[in-house]
Amino acid sequence: MSNLPTVAIIGRPNVGKSTLFNRLVGKRLALVDDMPGVTRDRREGDASLLGLDFRIVDTAGFEEEDPESLPGRMRAQTEAAVAGADVALFMIDARAGVVPLDAEIARWLRSGATPVVLVANKAEGRAAEAGLIEAYELGFGEPVQMSAEHGEGLADLFQELLPHLERDEDDFALDEEDQDEDSPDAPLKLAIVGRPNAGKSTLINRMLGEDRLITGPEAGITRDSIAIDWQWHAPDGVERAVRLIDTAGMRKKALVKDKLEKLSVADARHAIDFAEVVVLLLDATRGLEAQDLRIADAVLQEGRALIIALNKWDVAQDPSSLFNGVRGALDEGLAQVKGLPVLTVSAVTGRGLDQMLKAAFETREAWSRRVSTGQLNRWFERAIETNPPPAPGGRRIKLRYLTQAKTRPPGFVLFGTRVDELPESYRRYLLNGIRRDLGFGAVPVRLTVRAPK
Ligand code: GDP
Ligand code: GDP
Repeated sequence: MSNLPTVAIIGRPNVGKSTLFNRLVGKRLALVDDMPGVTRDRREGDASLLGLDFRIVDTAGFEEEDPESLPGRMRAQTEAAVAGADVALFMIDARAGVVPLDAEIARWLRSGATPVVLVANKAEGRAAEAGLIEAYELGFGEPVQMSAEHGEGLADLFQELLPHLERDEDDFALDEEDQDEDSPDAPLKLAIVGRPNAGKSTLINRMLGEDRLITGPEAGITRDSIAIDWQWHAPDGVERAVRLIDTAGMRKKALVKDKLEKLSVADARHAIDFAEVVVLLLDATRGLEAQDLRIADAVLQEGRALIIALNKWDVAQDPSSLFNGVRGALDEGLAQVKGLPVLTVSAVTGRGLDQMLKAAFETREAWSRRVSTGQLNRWFERAIETNPPPAPGGRRIKLRYLTQAKTRPPGFVLFGTRVDELPESYRRYLLNGIRRDLGFGAVPVRLTVRAPK
């Protein structure tokens, strides 16, 4: 009997339970099949999620033929699995929305004692938006949005599971301050990403002020650690805590060069999962390349705050046209966010690093900002008065109110009638206004629409 904490995955057929199971167990132990009813009993495996180890049980107790009778489908197996678990991971299909069986499972879970983490799977892309909002109806709060198939949202899942799985305070590096991560004094979780040779390791060494990370091909000091804590001596004399999230740059010397080329996007993803703010480091002698845009896009997709730093500024040729070129290419290449902060730095001389860190702290503040309801309402009334929503087919779309549903990243929900017909250009008008007028800068802000019942 293993002494690992246990997670039971529960949900109706086809929501993606096995896909997640496979991803977490890392071996193709569970059978993924589009055909419901493939007989599966519970499968168990040792799972690892971003360094957190636990036992995972994929239940199959809701898969009998008769879709109407819950008791009929409630196999003793499933009941036992959930009762014996530290937490139940209740999965729904965000694309399908909440169906009656989901609501039934929710009722059943609420009647038990096992804590529940609600996960809305298949959340990649737009098709999931309506389902995500419906998910609140299940009464388990905000769902963890993820895509088991694409490996998205794992950091959020991690964060939700962690409190239920912690047994030993110091067996994981990232827990303590997370309790109060909204506090501006909590360490800034920062990742430096970028293509090979952008200067990531040089920059990190420079920031840490010692050659502690990379000293030669045999260095593997940070290979097993996930983060490095240090104090930034800010120019205003204040010490600010920074937690550097492990990236390829920190480990590169231990890896083979050509492997790295392939790794950089995937590795950026890993860092992105944990970071609040991501610095994308560009090599000023090369400018902005397609892979940089892909990394930037991945950072924004995951809802992280992004800063662009043009490194090797000490040797940049024709700096002003270089800067403007990068600025223009970013605004053009990243449709979702205009006006990302672009800073110039030199990892070798140290120039610009304080400004970069200052910008990172400021960006985190915006990323964590909650706008008061009063301020938001006033802004919203003005915005729709200045530019009323269109009337497709002659029938006006009525926008009722706007509310900030979450922070980190900021997420807003817009209520009204026929909001599903709101053109993209109008959504963008609102989003840009929220960013510009309410102090979000270039932080990725999300807007979902909801028609009242
Ligand atoms: P289970 O019956 O709940 O165990 O579901 P499976 O893991 O067998 O997945 C059912 C189907 O959903 C399969 O075709 C998967 O490939 C698909 N699927 C799983 N996760 C995702 C996801 O994140 N996004 C999308 N679009 N499809 C997914
Ligand atoms: P990484 O692959 O992103 O970790 O890049 P490295 O830190 O290994 O740097 C790649 C090369 O760029 C090394 O030769 C560094 O000395 C050089 N380099 C890094 N930062 C700077 C800088 O600010 N100015 C100049 N001139 N060279 C730099």
